[in-house]
Amino acid sequence: MAFKSIRSRLTAWYVTLMGIILILFSVFLNYFLSKRLYESVDNSLTVSATVVATSAVMQFNRSPLPGLDRLFEQFMGAGNLNKFYRIYDGSGNVGSRSKNIDASQFPLSQVAYAEALKGENSYETFLVEGKHSIRVITMPIIREKKLVNLVQVGTSLEAVQETLRNLRIFLFTAVPSVLVLATLFARFMARRALKPISRIIQTARDIGQGQELNQRIPVLKVQDELGQLALTFNEMMDRLENSFAQMRQFSSDASHELRTPLTVLKGQNELILSKQRDPEEYQEVIASNLEEINYMSKVLEDLFILSKSDENQIHLNCKRMDLRDLVEEVCKHAEVLAGDKDIPITIAFLESVTINGDEVRLRQMIWNILHNGIKYTQPGGELKVSLQDEGEFALLSIQDTGIGIPEKDLPLIFDRFYRVDKARSRDEGGSGLGLSICKHIAEAHKGKVEVESKPSVGTRFKIRIPSITRAANEQKL
Ligand code: ADP
Repeated sequence: MAFKSIRSRLTAWYVTLMGIILILFSVFLNYFLSKRLYESVDNSLTVSATVVATSAVMQFNRSPLPGLDRLFEQFMGAGNLNKFYRIYDGSGNVGSRSKNIDASQFPLSQVAYAEALKGENSYETFLVEGKHSIRVITMPIIREKKLVNLVQVGTSLEAVQETLRNLRIFLFTAVPSVLVLATLFARFMARRALKPISRIIQTARDIGQGQELNQRIPVLKVQDELGQLALTFNEMMDRLENSFAQMRQFSSDASHELRTPLTVLKGQNELILSKQRDPEEYQEVIASNLEEINYMSKVLEDLFILSKSDENQIHLNCKRMDLRDLVEEVCKHAEVLAGDKDIPITIAFLESVTINGDEVRLRQMIWNILHNGIKYTQPGGELKVSLQDEGEFALLSIQDTGIGIPEKDLPLIFDRFYRVDKARSRDEGGSGLGLSICKHIAEAHKGKVEVESKPSVGTRFKIRIPSITRAANEQKL
């Protein structure tokens, strides 16, 4: 049977299990109790038969045996008076018998006689008058290896059967009642236990319908599994809300970033077309247009790299390389740019460190940081570069004596489109995406970028990329 809700399923499992346990318990109880009761009847019959046998040997033909009923009472209590006896000779002819017995009710069976000949007691159950049962023991009396007499003692099984019948009636009514109570109890407990889930479903539904990402589930008990589920759900919602906010911010920043140059382009072109111009004027506008177009294509290219890295799709083309060669090469290119601003690039020391890296991406990262150093340093300042082999990492340090970054901005400069001074960055052709890309490139190489800065003193970027030694150690592990 398929149950739609967990509550019904839990209840069904609980009640089924309980039902199986109760039924097994009832079957075993019935079996063992009836076994014990019948055993005790047989034991009592054996004792009674032994008493009768003792008297029978002497007074075979007297019916009833004198004083036997008293003997029964004396030895085995008043309960034994409902017993009856019969004594046969060795050929199976009836001798004496108790008064309360009708011989035709239970004849001496072939089986019992055969067992008696072997010297064995036998126990049989007969149905008397089609309604109540009697239990009969047939006990042989053997002398000099000859069957001399047979003693039969019987008793009614009515009391035993009545007890067992009562037990069954009790079990047949008690078990279903317990199961009904168990069903109610299980449903109540399941509803109570699963209440937080209903709340999670409701909250998730509300969020889905109304897109209210700020909704949270009240967490009552943190320790249990449902509390943990609610907590995890809330944490997930925090992250979702955060990333939705970031996405919104990002798309508004991106569109703003592209709208500005487009507005400039539109304005300039409308203005130049408003009347006839000199060829120099056209040339000037076209050159300016080209600058804006270059800027827009750089922003788009950076956005493309970032969106790829978001999807973990930055494909690194790594190979074994000496980072020193790459740093030297990029510094040489940067010197041209820095020379224009009269900023010398000093190489403090460059140690040779072998790394496994993507040359193109690493070049882009080093260039971005060197370029920033040049952009945000006044003419006459200085840039200092060093590369150190730290064993596990190659540490590249790029330090400038530029405008620095205020402490409050430091944690944000790796965010997309974040710029301390928007106007200045824009004038320098910056999009605010350079450092985000650097961070992604370093992390894609399992490295990291750190920054230290003091306004008006300068900024130092420290980039750590795992060296081959570290990679070899990791492989060994
Ligand atoms: P941008 O294209 O604007 O330079 P980045 O992502 O490269 O964007 O840098 C983000 C911001 O961090 C910059 O706008 C600037 O305010 C600050 N910044 C980066 N490098 C430096 C530096 N060397 N000195 C001072 N400020 C810096």
